[in-house]
Amino acid sequence: MNKDARVFVAGHRGLVGSAIVRRLQAEGYRNLLLRSSAELDLRNQAAVDRFFEQERPEFVYLAAAKVGGILANDSYPADFIRDNLQIQTNVIDAAYRFGVRKLAFLGSSCIYPKHAPQPMPESCLLTGPLEPTNEWYAVAKIAGVKMCQAYRKQYGFNAISVMPTNLYGPGDNFDLNSSHVLPALIRKFHEAKQRGEGEVVVWGTGTPRREFLHVDDLADACVFLLERYDSPEPINVGWGEDISIAELAALVGAAVDYSGKLRFDTSKPDGTPRKLLDVTRLRALGWAPKIQLRDGVAATYRWFTSQAGARG
Ligand code: GDP
Repeated sequence: MNKDARVFVAGHRGLVGSAIVRRLQAEGYRNLLLRSSAELDLRNQAAVDRFFEQERPEFVYLAAAKVGGILANDSYPADFIRDNLQIQTNVIDAAYRFGVRKLAFLGSSCIYPKHAPQPMPESCLLTGPLEPTNEWYAVAKIAGVKMCQAYRKQYGFNAISVMPTNLYGPGDNFDLNSSHVLPALIRKFHEAKQRGEGEVVVWGTGTPRREFLHVDDLADACVFLLERYDSPEPINVGWGEDISIAELAALVGAAVDYSGKLRFDTSKPDGTPRKLLDVTRLRALGWAPKIQLRDGVAATYRWFTSQAGARG
């Protein structure tokens, strides 16, 4: 990709899209095409077609999606399946029809079966039932992977699918009803410390295990893969190690410097017992993440407190 290439980062206000934009700008890309959802509703096929016809992007990072944590996925299944199918179908199809040279579709590790072998290789896709709390989102993302494969097979369209593990970092969603666990815990510990509360509530049993990757590492991998990966098979992007939610809570508590107790609210769902990606394929290409969880959480906490003076 030369630095004048016209690169559309779909979803540039989100956690992933904003990290990809930071990364591309740092590398000197001059022609980034960016539209907020108010400027371009990616669920609207006619609007998406118009955008591609006028702007003629050459490369696309498809990081736009309706995303959320375990509670949001469980509460709004129709929104999750509809919005994601619409966004990805419109963008992938328009990208093909308007001559995009390469597209990277961003998925999620929840596409793999609930009881997949751990760590989960790309080959376990569609080998068993999904985790019910986020199957709507997962089915949409699986359709996106399949759509990239179908367009490559039938039309020779160069679309790749990138499957990140659980992500965190600056620009994350810290709303307790819709966020993922890591930003939720940062906020809960911070507020408990501010208010002098002696206890923080952690959802579920604390035993599920998750893998966490800093979004700047993912952005690095996305830029790397757009240059270096050409295959119909999805490629996992992860750290390669996981920790339990109880361990994560202790780590976040230490980063926030909170000394109170944890209470596990077992009326809330645990979700899938373990989600760890097999990153052999990615490692074989020569890519590895750099940001350790402890450092990444500390940096994300600094970002969170810097965001609103009101919070500090
Ligand atoms: P998942 O990876 O799709 O299950 O999504 P989440 O990041 O929302 O949840 C991961 C795990 O963290 C689940 O077992 C949750 O029950 C647990 N968890 C503990 N406390 C919280 C919290 O405050 N918010 C969220 N979203 N999850 C929490």
